[in-house]
Amino acid sequence: MSKELEDCEKVKGKENLKLEKINEMVKEGKIDPGNVKFTTWQDKKNDDGEIIGTVRVVQEEDEDLAKVEYICPRCQNHGFRKTEYKRPFWVKCENCEKSFSVPRLKDKVDRKKKGPDA
Ligand SMILES: [Zn+2]
Repeated sequence: MSKELEDCEKVKGKENLKLEKINEMVKEGKIDPGNVKFTTWQDKKNDDGEIIGTVRVVQEEDEDLAKVEYICPRCQNHGFRKTEYKRPFWVKCENCEKSFSVPRLKDKVDRKKKGPDA
């Protein structure tokens, strides 16, 4: 892993697309990994297959909102937000205000705990 890359190159490197917030929250006990209803973590790639962004979603059993940590595939903004989980799941970047999709959200449990849709 070279650290001498130009800035424009760095954003393409996986090492520069590290998500930290959710890891920190787990370490600090703010997220209980044993209480996670679903989680997904996926990279966003451009047409050349280069990783240009990444997004991680975690929702705990007793939470109404999913925690979403992302690096925007368009502007590389590193953001974190809580948002209601729904399909299809889209994350709106707080920086450039563009949305990107998070397909294939994997449910850890089948049952739906939520009440009727609002
Ligand atoms: Zn953005």
